[in-house]
Amino acid sequence: MKFGTKVIHAGLQPDPATGAVVTPIYQTSTYQQKAPGDHKGFEYSRTSNPTRKALEDNLAALENGKYGLCFGSGLAAVDAVLKLLKTGDEVISTNDLYGGSYRLFTQGFAQLGIKFTFVPMNNTIAIEEAITPNTKLIWVETPTNPMMNIIDVAAVATITKKRNILLAVDNTFATPFLQNPLGLGADIVMHSVTKYLAGHSDVIMGALICKDEDLAKRLYFIQKSSGAVCGPQDSFLALRGIKTLHLRMQRHCENGKIVATFLRTHPKVDKVYWPGFDDHPNHLIAKKQMRNYGGMISFSLNGNSKEDAFKLMSTFKIFTLAESLGGVESLTCHPATMTHASIPSKEREKLGIVDSLIRLSAGIEDVHDLIEDLDSALKSI
Ligand SMILES: *Cc1c(COP(=O)(O)O)cnc(C)c1O
Repeated sequence: MKFGTKVIHAGLQPDPATGAVVTPIYQTSTYQQKAPGDHKGFEYSRTSNPTRKALEDNLAALENGKYGLCFGSGLAAVDAVLKLLKTGDEVISTNDLYGGSYRLFTQGFAQLGIKFTFVPMNNTIAIEEAITPNTKLIWVETPTNPMMNIIDVAAVATITKKRNILLAVDNTFATPFLQNPLGLGADIVMHSVTKYLAGHSDVIMGALICKDEDLAKRLYFIQKSSGAVCGPQDSFLALRGIKTLHLRMQRHCENGKIVATFLRTHPKVDKVYWPGFDDHPNHLIAKKQMRNYGGMISFSLNGNSKEDAFKLMSTFKIFTLAESLGGVESLTCHPATMTHASIPSKEREKLGIVDSLIRLSAGIEDVHDLIEDLDSALKSI
């Protein structure tokens, strides 16, 4: 089945009870048993729920995996992966990553005696050097947030496979439409379903997908034991959103390209970070592992003034100043004070997250309106 068919059909059947074509919202916590242990595969909705199960099966198919698990948020999914580890274990992570993941690593799991090392992963030598006998997990985010670096997942997988280290990839920015990390050698794919997958900025949800049965069993155990699951109503909304993922992504990519190209030629803009540019430092890796370049763009302003950046973002009429990304509507944010405020300022500057850096999530509106919005806001500074 091709991707555009999978989003609509994979893992989904007409409802066995009624024939309803659309997966119903099974708003129930529990299920009748004929005799103790004699049930239809569902016992209690923390463990499994038919609406959530349909979504989990659909996501597993989209990522070319076997097992899907959904959680109450993207970070609950990250949390579940980290719970595979124990005190003394070590994790090597992308140095340029989602601020919430960084906070969970350094202020959550570090306190339980798990050690985190952050390295620039487009340099595989830096990864090799950071590995110790206690390294159990490598955490990759690509494209990285907000600097849009691209990490060669297949190259990292070569390192992890040799040493029996788990490789997890946060595929939130790319989505399975653009890239499938399991096929590149990753063991676990993580998503903030909140973003492109659900796609309409109305749900908070996370997901994990894997192929290995033993790994899946351990993750299901954590999902059931910790109980950070999503509800049936949200599962329904995510399923509904996913049915147009391929169409939305196509438009996000087209709009992203036009917006990035416009910004690059604008005299008030300093740098534009978008992996589709030929001279992007990791463009060849992007070309190899992704099918297109997405709608996420970061840019900085000439003069690097925070005031200019703030003025610009509050002048926009269509780009809404808000955290998050990947919805149908265009959003903008200021990483240094919003999504990445939990990263110390010295670390931030080193990564390129300067005071005038602005991140855009190009939505699926008419691109002429997006360009006009950017153009008139840039005139105001
Ligand atoms: C938003 C996001 C997360 C966290 O997901 P939530 O659903 O907000 O908990 C993790 N990684 C990336 C790349 C994100 O953009």
